Amino acid sequence: MFGTGLLKGLGVTLKHLRDTYLDDRERVPSRYEGSIDLGDGERIIRQPIDQEGLLTIQYPEEKRLLPERFRYIPMLLWDTEKGEDRCTACGICAKVCPPQCIWIVRDSDENGKPITRPAEFYIDAAVCMSCSFCAEFCPFDAIKMNHDFELAVYDRYPQLVYDKEELTVPIEYYAALWPTQYAAEQELIRQKEEEERAKAEAKAKAEAEKKAQAAERPKAQRSPEELEALKKKAAERAAARGKSASGEEKGQEEDPEAKKARLEELKRKAAERARQRQQESGE
Ligand code: SF4
Ligand code: SF4
Repeated sequence: MFGTGLLKGLGVTLKHLRDTYLDDRERVPSRYEGSIDLGDGERIIRQPIDQEGLLTIQYPEEKRLLPERFRYIPMLLWDTEKGEDRCTACGICAKVCPPQCIWIVRDSDENGKPITRPAEFYIDAAVCMSCSFCAEFCPFDAIKMNHDFELAVYDRYPQLVYDKEELTVPIEYYAALWPTQYAAEQELIRQKEEEERAKAEAKAKAEAEKKAQAAERPKAQRSPEELEALKKKAAERAAARGKSASGEEKGQEEDPEAKKARLEELKRKAAERARQRQQESGE
């Protein structure tokens, strides 16, 4: 029937209106209960995700508490404990960024050798599409998504091209914005460290046991007579080997006449054998 959709739409609007007033009444005496007071009349209002009514927010003095997984422009993490950038300038984030809005320049030492930290890091916030690929792919958990969405400026360039200094935040800031994710990452790091420590301990224990076993094993003690007998045996074996290799006693020169006669004899025997084979094959 003509006008049904219109009526349905008005019904939804009326429902929202009713829910809004009901919601306000539920919050008597104050709708600001549980909000975060930022001072100077500014506050962040907690609005449960399942709340039905439309709560009027006096923006910009009042803001809603953003959900943890809200993401806008990436930020670089500064490890306060170690006093260094987490970023190693590996460049993976720049490679995976779909609109290619990340530029990184790797730092180098006084000899010009590259080192694992960025000298410069830029993100063009006007191009970034908040996809979070950079944060997902970073192997060092060095880049995360910031919640700060109030980035309006008069000129796009250079104000919206953020450099390393503007992008860098202490890790505590990230921990406050993303508490669940931060806790999960810390747990993973702890587990990994625990595994590595257990492996190192097991290795050290195995080495110590090996050393102890080697120290405990008594060295073979032989009497002088036994040693003498072993030496004699070894000398005999060496002499036998030398003899079998040359057919003569080691160090003894063969008489040239005898050698000639031996070779003649060998030739004669070979000719005899060849003749015999010929006869056998002819029969
Ligand atoms: S932010 Fe991560 S992925 Fe990007 S260069 Fe630094 S360490 Fe590599
Ligand atoms: S959020 Fe997406 S578009 Fe923005 S810098 Fe990261 S990868 Fe690039």
